[in-house]
Amino acid sequence: MKTSFLAHSRTLFTISTLSTLCRRNGAANWLLLVLLPILAACGEPATPEDAAAAPVAEQVTTHEWKMITSWPKNLPALGTAPEEFAQRVARMSNGRLQIRVYGANELVGGLEVFDAVSQGVAEMGHSGAYYWQGKIAATPFFSSIPFGLTGSEQDAWLSFGGGNELWRELYEPFGLIPVRGGNTGTQMFGWFKREINSLEDLQGLKMRIPSLGGEVFRRIGGTPVTMQASDVFNALQTGLLDAAEFVSPYNDLAIGYHEVADYYYYPGWHEPGSTVEAIINQAAFDSLTPDLQEILLAATEAMNQSLHEELIARNNEALRVLVEEHGVQLRRLPDEVLIELKRISEQVIEELAASDPAAARIYESWREFRADVMNYREIAEEAFIEARRLPAD
Ligand code: CA
Repeated sequence: MKTSFLAHSRTLFTISTLSTLCRRNGAANWLLLVLLPILAACGEPATPEDAAAAPVAEQVTTHEWKMITSWPKNLPALGTAPEEFAQRVARMSNGRLQIRVYGANELVGGLEVFDAVSQGVAEMGHSGAYYWQGKIAATPFFSSIPFGLTGSEQDAWLSFGGGNELWRELYEPFGLIPVRGGNTGTQMFGWFKREINSLEDLQGLKMRIPSLGGEVFRRIGGTPVTMQASDVFNALQTGLLDAAEFVSPYNDLAIGYHEVADYYYYPGWHEPGSTVEAIINQAAFDSLTPDLQEILLAATEAMNQSLHEELIARNNEALRVLVEEHGVQLRRLPDEVLIELKRISEQVIEELAASDPAAARIYESWREFRADVMNYREIAEEAFIEARRLPAD
């Protein structure tokens, strides 16, 4: 923390400026005679006590924060969003809050973000809540649930369905404030070295797939692995992994998975709209003035929106490059595979809710919200999307 002094400025008409104005406007000199003593009185303290109390300088505190992330430094979208966030905070705060962003492994490993921010190693983190499921069972609700909510639905649940309040309650014992810092939208199922035509084809595969999606994968006979993104490419290349999911074409192209796996499967049933979390150390947050706190929270909201929109805007062109320029084989999972994955997903979610009181409360809120939002979605977006596909003539 640094302390500096900003000179307190005050605006006064100078005598010459006032004289000029009077002459230009044809005002009588008596106006000058009346105003001069008043201005002189305003400019000088009346007594020594007034002089002592007068605010000659305003103390400004500058904060220098660290923000650690789970992503390779400057990875398009996931990695660049926190950099833009830090720049926005610096501009909004006129330099009073400076945030330096670290990629995975620069300060701590990508899967150590939660503990490091909780312990004050860094003031902020940018990661995924489901990575901490081993510590807090209910965290997947604040990333994504298999066959759950899309990106905009997840945002709506957090903002208006009680999600944000439940999330804050869940992280409070760890001295952390969680807020949303991006959404990936619907992801891809991921990268495979061979075609998947049935559930049997998934059995025996070792796949990087975290959280509840990983548990579903385990129950159909696969071996799920949770691994930070920067390690996945080598693991696929060396054969440590047979398959891997990460995000969607824009991020996946940047990492280069197409160089080590030929088949790219969709839909991302396991992550239909993952929130990317921004976590703030509570004590660090409390040390900020109320205006800096508001700036920080407003900037995370801006990051949340822009990351989601960036991926929506860039994914299709990245997919075109993958397919047309790199010869990637794009495949949809067969319906019979999806039906079984969905059946098992529902079981996994129910079991999670039954195993943990906090997860049970959150599940109740989330499940009710999903039922509501799905009902109107069918009437609005889904019906419209079907209509948009109709022939024009
Ligand atoms: Ca993913």
